Amino acid sequence: MREEEHLLPGAERVRTLAGVTVRYQSQGLPLARYELSRADRRRQEEAESIARWVAEQLAKAPPLGPEQLKTIEALLSSADSSPREYARWRVRLFCGHIAEVERPADQDRPDERLWDKETCSECGLSPAVIVAFEHIGLVCEPSPPPTPPTPPARKKPSRAELELRVAALEKENERLRAENLPN
Ligand SMILES: [Zn+2]
Repeated sequence: MREEEHLLPGAERVRTLAGVTVRYQSQGLPLARYELSRADRRRQEEAESIARWVAEQLAKAPPLGPEQLKTIEALLSSADSSPREYARWRVRLFCGHIAEVERPADQDRPDERLWDKETCSECGLSPAVIVAFEHIGLVCEPSPPPTPPTPPARKKPSRAELELRVAALEKENERLRAENLPN
């Protein structure tokens, strides 16, 4: 099987994160010449047909009501907010372009779970499956801290207040003018 040729177990890197050992895998050399395998083509076709299906379902789905939007918002904001480490990978996409991608650091390869495809920033192929990859290192960057609550905007003076202020200024102006008038 051709795919076996691309596996280079020697290039693995090991990392212990929160007591869990992650053995980063690699597949082929993203920067080397690469010929697409039959398995690559099949995965790309599958990814494209899944993307088409999802797009069709979304087009058919009724728009979300306010209640549903609220639920989704709540789900998103309650999502795991603990600092998370990310690993960087160099990947070769189906179209032949090379990209750098980030994945949660506890993932030992960049092409599993929901993350097996990318949108190519060079040619726009979307989805583009990953056909070769190598681990580059960790992004030593915890997820950004929660944004501090924005300070309440300074209360704008109401129109009535502005009018009062203008009137006071006009009065003051008149007084000064009267003072300065030559007698
Ligand atoms: Zn591309």
